[in-house]
Amino acid sequence: MNSLNTVGVVGGGLMGSGIAAKLSAGGRRVVVHDSNASVRAGVTQRCTHVFEELGRAGMLDAVSKEAAMGRIGVASTLDELSATDFVIEAVVEELSVKVDIFSDLEAILRPEVVIASTTSGIPLDRLTEQLARPENFLVAHFWNPPHIIRMVEVVPGIFTSSASVQSCLQLLRSSDCDPVILKKSVPGFIGNRIQFAVLREALHMLDTGVADAETIDYVITQTVGRRYRWSGPLQSADVGGLKTFMSVSSQLWPELCADEEPLAGLQRLVDSGDFGYASGKGIFTWDDERRQRLEQTRLRMLQDIIKN
Ligand code: NAD
Repeated sequence: MNSLNTVGVVGGGLMGSGIAAKLSAGGRRVVVHDSNASVRAGVTQRCTHVFEELGRAGMLDAVSKEAAMGRIGVASTLDELSATDFVIEAVVEELSVKVDIFSDLEAILRPEVVIASTTSGIPLDRLTEQLARPENFLVAHFWNPPHIIRMVEVVPGIFTSSASVQSCLQLLRSSDCDPVILKKSVPGFIGNRIQFAVLREALHMLDTGVADAETIDYVITQTVGRRYRWSGPLQSADVGGLKTFMSVSSQLWPELCADEEPLAGLQRLVDSGDFGYASGKGIFTWDDERRQRLEQTRLRMLQDIIKN
């Protein structure tokens, strides 16, 4: 099997930089390409931030941090990825942009090189419809931030070869990731279906005045959040008793939000440019105190990973 020494990452934004940092911390050489020059200029800083966070958690010493930084290269053209042994695509969630990049990659890479998309939910078979070698493609859905959430959902399409799946698993396992393979591709895969079902209900409760945002998040982190860290919803239903869970389901499911459009409160925020953390205001106001609290939370999550 290919030794996968050098990985190309297309898209150097939030996920691309996070994935590059995770892979280089795990010993891989990584070349990151982004079409936007200012994003390319920020790759080093975003990766440094990840290494510093790993350092504070005692997971990366100063020498290893320097070495990891030295393994990351930034490319201004896609062609510079032609000699890479595996490519991860992490560009904007737009079908046509991803398809164009895949087609360009097919033209420049060696024919056996596997290409993994981090799409959050576009089915792989739609992305590879027009391609010459669909057997080389699969989804590797990383979670943000990849250095804290090690689990990656690997989703083969109908044409993906088992060699491509094995190659992806080899890369992920040897980079301290924790891959799982889905049996079939559904929009959103597993994690995002759950995340967005929960988000819809939380936003609905916020919009209808059940409680404020702080309280809703607090109840979730202290109840299902705590439980799901150790026991998923299916095992929890078994433990709670399926008869009870069935009667609660029949009363509660008809009451839950089933809107198919983005909820009004979310739409209002986005329309007014309140995009969340990055813009300083979203559902919460991201002042220094809240940012520092988030840093502390992320450090605790990393320490939890070391312990478990
Ligand atoms: P982002 O906006 O931070 O980064 C996307 C990058 O793609 C941008 O820097 C942009 O310049 C670049 N790009 C656009 N067109 C390009 C092209 N033709 N060639 C090269 N680069 C190009 O977005 P992100 O949050 O990093 O998301 C990237 C992908 O990862 C998306 O498919 C998203 O659904 C998925 N994803 C996101 C998250 C998350 O929490 N943000 C989690 C998992 C997966």
